Amino acid sequence: MKHDILSMTLPELEALVLELGESKFRAKQIYGWICKGAWGDEMKNIPTRLRQALDDVCEFRLPKVLKRLVSQIDGTIKYLFELIDGECIESVFMRYEHGNTLCISSQVGCRMGCKFCASTIDGRVRDLSAGEMLGQIISAQRDTGERISNVVMMGIGEPLDNYDNTIKFLKLVSSPDGLNIGLRHISVSSCGLVDKIDKLSHEGLPITLSISLHAYDDEIRSAIMPINNKYNIEALLSACERYFEKTGRRISFEYTLIADKNDTIEGATRLAQVLKGYIHSTPHVNLIPLNEVESTRLSTSKNVNAFKNKLISLGINATVRRRLGSDINASCGQLRRQSTKK
Ligand code: SAH
Repeated sequence: MKHDILSMTLPELEALVLELGESKFRAKQIYGWICKGAWGDEMKNIPTRLRQALDDVCEFRLPKVLKRLVSQIDGTIKYLFELIDGECIESVFMRYEHGNTLCISSQVGCRMGCKFCASTIDGRVRDLSAGEMLGQIISAQRDTGERISNVVMMGIGEPLDNYDNTIKFLKLVSSPDGLNIGLRHISVSSCGLVDKIDKLSHEGLPITLSISLHAYDDEIRSAIMPINNKYNIEALLSACERYFEKTGRRISFEYTLIADKNDTIEGATRLAQVLKGYIHSTPHVNLIPLNEVESTRLSTSKNVNAFKNKLISLGINATVRRRLGSDINASCGQLRRQSTKK
């Protein structure tokens, strides 16, 4: 089996280069090239013999741009990437004042089954390798010619369901010899795998953890997020509090407002109560306007604002996420779904 070179750390690449009978310093040169998305003839200062030897033992799995939708409203770019085996994933490039952010995928499909999410409708096909996660950033930087300074793992897939590759990716992306994106500029979003949240708290990685909560009681949460039958709200929020105690990093909670499901004023009050029952520092809630999928309907902006104001009046930090790329279906899973349907 060939090495997936984008999943290799610099020390692993150094060992490989030595095995191929070349000097160790070549590894750093190669590492620099692959992080720019260059391979083969493009690696200009690498001798032809070594390029060929690398080609024989390594696979360079850079995601290929299959489709590229640019928002006329805010310049957000949505990519449909093709992987080496023909599977497709999505990434979204967003411009913010504090820098460019890329939202990346962690799996092809997803098996978590959340009712409002397009990524999970046909289940999980496979996990992405660490290099395929990194490759989305490299390809987007190459395509735009701009540096990406922030990454959110909020695309297709459940990052903690692909735990080892996610951890490896976090180490690769923050490596000073590689893309050098600081861990504090990276958010990992999870639907709430409690055992993995506990494991993550011991890794010593100062990322931001976001939890997709979406409900204020178990009845509603279990109806829209099957994971809640395994780890209910009490188990989840207790794990979040343990995570904070261990790492000192605050967790932010995502809450998608769905009309007639979880968007009432009474719901806001119940949400504030349940959060305060478990989370002792001021909780932060990120309210997400729903992108309508199948039977779920978007809350009115009047309800969204009322919900937000109620949370704030009860001492919860609440913000409404700006909707970027609303003209290009920028929320996760929708583009891949259109392409696999064909
Ligand atoms: N599996 C991870 C990360 C991917 S989803 C997670 O569950 O957090 C990223 C975020 O988008 C999650 O908060 C998810 O609940 C939300 N999301 C999924 N489908 C959505 C939709 N149709 N409208 C709005 N938000 C959605």
